[in-house]
Amino acid sequence: MSLRLILIGPPGVGKGTQSALLNERLGLSALSSGEIFRREIEAHTDLGRLAQRYIQHGELVPNGVTIEMMAKRLREDDARKGGFVLDGFPRTVRQAEALDEILFDMEMGLDKVVSIEVPEETILNRLAGRMGCTKCGEIYHSKNKPPMREGLCDKCNGPLFVRTDDQPATILERLRVFHETTEPVIGYYEKTGTLLRVDGSVGPEETYRQIVAGTVA
Ligand code: AMP
Repeated sequence: MSLRLILIGPPGVGKGTQSALLNERLGLSALSSGEIFRREIEAHTDLGRLAQRYIQHGELVPNGVTIEMMAKRLREDDARKGGFVLDGFPRTVRQAEALDEILFDMEMGLDKVVSIEVPEETILNRLAGRMGCTKCGEIYHSKNKPPMREGLCDKCNGPLFVRTDDQPATILERLRVFHETTEPVIGYYEKTGTLLRVDGSVGPEETYRQIVAGTVA
């Protein structure tokens, strides 16, 4: 399947979960800007050190380096030849404009931009308690989806971790940044007619069903 999708939504809305499902079931390459930054931080690269300064405060990494990093990722074979799902990029109108230029150069178009929407209180509950697997990226929650064995991934046995930016003060800052800077990106795509709004509060399977129903012709 060579669908080209973007997932937009506030932190904790389920973008990571949906892009993992789209990868598993439709074979789309999951391109997560946050995940790429976290890998750079782990590898102690210059980009990682720069990104860390912003990520730890819940702020956005500057557009220039983010755009350059994602342009490089989009040009890799899997994304170029198969379909992809962008998770966490674009997050500013400037990034959306840059993405248009990158895709134009690559002679590619976007199929759909999916806005995943949930009430704010649900987001706060989800983020407090969220854990991820360090090896395979599977996402858990202390109350809603606890792992069978504490601290270990059900799928691959990998150790689970809590993201440093999932602390209460940082969560509130990330939500503020979403409303101020990322929400206008939804308006940007609404004008081009590629926007699909789905309900992210109905459980991962039902949200997935809505995405597929709205994108796969
Ligand atoms: P995420 O995993 O998508 O929640 O991203 C984690 C953090 O990485 C964000 O809070 C930002 O600090 C940074 N980040 C991820 N994607 C972007 C982006 N497109 N533009 C700027 N910063 C980003």
